[in-house]
Amino acid sequence: MQCRICGSKTDPVFRAPVLSKYEIDYYECRLCGFLQTEDPFWLDEAYEYPVSPYDTGYVARNISLANKLTALLWLFCRPDGRFVDFAGGCGIFVRLMRDIGFDFYWYDKYAKNVFAKGFEWDFSSRAEAVTCFEAFEHFVEPLQELRKMLDVSENIFFTTELLPNPVPKPGEWWYYGLEHGQHISFYSDKTLKFLAAKYRLNYTRVGSLHIFSPKRFNGLLLKFLQLTQFKIHHLIRFMLRSKTWDDHIFQVEKLKKQNEDCI
Ligand SMILES: [Zn+2]
Repeated sequence: MQCRICGSKTDPVFRAPVLSKYEIDYYECRLCGFLQTEDPFWLDEAYEYPVSPYDTGYVARNISLANKLTALLWLFCRPDGRFVDFAGGCGIFVRLMRDIGFDFYWYDKYAKNVFAKGFEWDFSSRAEAVTCFEAFEHFVEPLQELRKMLDVSENIFFTTELLPNPVPKPGEWWYYGLEHGQHISFYSDKTLKFLAAKYRLNYTRVGSLHIFSPKRFNGLLLKFLQLTQFKIHHLIRFMLRSKTWDDHIFQVEKLKKQNEDCI
């Protein structure tokens, strides 16, 4: 089987029970360190629920990420620019970031936008940065997805658990997600470095966050953010104007116009 990242030949490393009924082969690429499942024919079954009932950390993770991204986007990007959350799920992260004061938009090929309605990204222009959380491991075609993000911005902030070295056996790593079957692509440190080099970007890691960007990030500043648990976000919030009320007015005006058009 060919590697979905670098195109090299892969080696089968183990077989594991996905959704408690399919014995699935996992393949490792020795060149770029990527681990992938065989062709994922079971995905329709795996996505019965848009937010996995197993993902009990969904809300807490989004709040924590909003705090971290407030610090990172303020310090390293133009905070008054536009931002897009790829694979934005039900829109909770976009809503949180707009509440803080960032002009954030939502995009998701599969999920239904609930919390960020009216703020869908239309791909008519570029953005300051893209975020993409807990989605890389779901990608069937990672290169196509990454290309789509890069067409929007070369600053990509994302999360996915790094594949340990050596590759853990099926019962040894929770992130394989065998019970829900949605995780099919696993990236090692080597894989992410390979991807960054492929697109001539720098790869930076801050705790569980990965960043692809043409910029070089100040390592000392990143260390400071980590040591202080990104608490600077409390201060930054004072310098931003929340969009909660403006968005409310926007929605009211939109509804009024729709009603007038119906008369
Ligand atoms: Zn590879």
